[in-house]
Amino acid sequence: MSGLQGKVALVTGGSRGMGAAIARRLAADGADVALTYARSPEKATSVAADIQKIGRRALAIQADNRDAAAIEAAVAKTVEELGRLDILVNNAGIFSVAPIEDVTLEAYDEMMAINTRAVFVAIKAVVPHLPEGGRIITISSNLAEQVPFAGVSLYAASKAALTGLTKGVARDLGPKRITVNLVQPGSTDTDMNPADSDHADAQRERMAIQSYSTPQDVAGLVAWLASEEARFVTGATLVIDSGANI
Ligand code: NDP
Repeated sequence: MSGLQGKVALVTGGSRGMGAAIARRLAADGADVALTYARSPEKATSVAADIQKIGRRALAIQADNRDAAAIEAAVAKTVEELGRLDILVNNAGIFSVAPIEDVTLEAYDEMMAINTRAVFVAIKAVVPHLPEGGRIITISSNLAEQVPFAGVSLYAASKAALTGLTKGVARDLGPKRITVNLVQPGSTDTDMNPADSDHADAQRERMAIQSYSTPQDVAGLVAWLASEEARFVTGATLVIDSGANI
């Protein structure tokens, strides 16, 4: 018994990378899991199938973070098909690099829509369903705190906004004993930031422990926040970045 038996989780961006690892880990800990994706139906279906193989229920739902109605529909479908909703993990996100001179208003709107607005939309949609003891966990970035290289103003802004949102919602939902927390990963080996890319050594040089995290490392932290042990951790920011920002 790992502690999430009888609970239902919704993980956004669960088709690949950290989201897939989080979905698998929450299922291994006992939860039934719905996961969303934008463009990878086969990968999302494969994660859901793996979860079903370990005896949990799973749903893969197409819901682009740009589309508020699609996110709301994903929440509704999760509750309808899995019967309840205890844990929301806002994981889906995009990354881009450009100097401020080249950043367009369209790029700003897209980054904010996917990384920030969708988190607000998902939180609003789940709150009516979350029971006492519910969990909202959002994957931010250590770039929300420090920006050690050029070209990431948009991304850093999209993630920094999540800090205020998380703390505010933690206050609002505290009376219901719902916890609301941020995880700030640093360099994590996924399609977004492969550990063997041309930019990887520069990232490793900043770290106290000079190694990328794996998606499973981040999933472990998310699973702990979802667990009963973390019931008094709220409004918090948990950093997992190999000591890059210290
Ligand atoms: P990946 O690019 O490997 O995976 C991204 C996931 O998000 C995929 O499941 C993808 O779905 C989904 N996604 C992307 N765009 C959308 C969209 N418009 N609507 C719905 N889902 C979407 O990224 P990571 O796993 O690396 O990143 C996960 C989170 O961690 C992100 O929020 C990222 O900003 C954050 N992060 C990552 C770090 C890293 O070093 N990797 C460091 C710090 C934070 P699909 O397969 O359909 O495209």
